[in-house]
Amino acid sequence: MATPFPFTAIVGQEDMKKALLMAAVEPLLGGVLIFGDRGTGKSTAVRALASLLPKLETRERCRYNCLPSEPQQACATCRAHPKPALVKIRAPMIDLPLGATEDRVCGALDIEKALTVGEKAFEPDCWPPPIAVFSISTR
Ligand SMILES: [Zn+2]
Repeated sequence: MATPFPFTAIVGQEDMKKALLMAAVEPLLGGVLIFGDRGTGKSTAVRALASLLPKLETRERCRYNCLPSEPQQACATCRAHPKPALVKIRAPMIDLPLGATEDRVCGALDIEKALTVGEKAFEPDCWPPPIAVFSISTR
């Protein structure tokens, strides 16, 4: 992975930088929507912020980055292997296409499992860990 441009080296865009930093320290804000003309540093700032976030401790080989401290919310794979090795990862930077639907972001009913096994199950899709940075590109 290439080293992102340093967040502190971004000149101008003070409101955007302040909003990103506030969202990084207060999850209840729910996120930041940044819009602007091409070349104004939106993606650069988001990538720079993602590199500043603390590493997450998660379960090795977990597709959804389940937190070891919250076993009751673990995915099916983690529940099947209750003593996995733990790893530290960078906060994921998730690029979403413009028009990404809610089920693409938040997950949905696992239709395959519902039809084959007859059980309701959640398919998280790109379910983010507690810390994630989403980027929606208009290109
Ligand atoms: Zn998991």
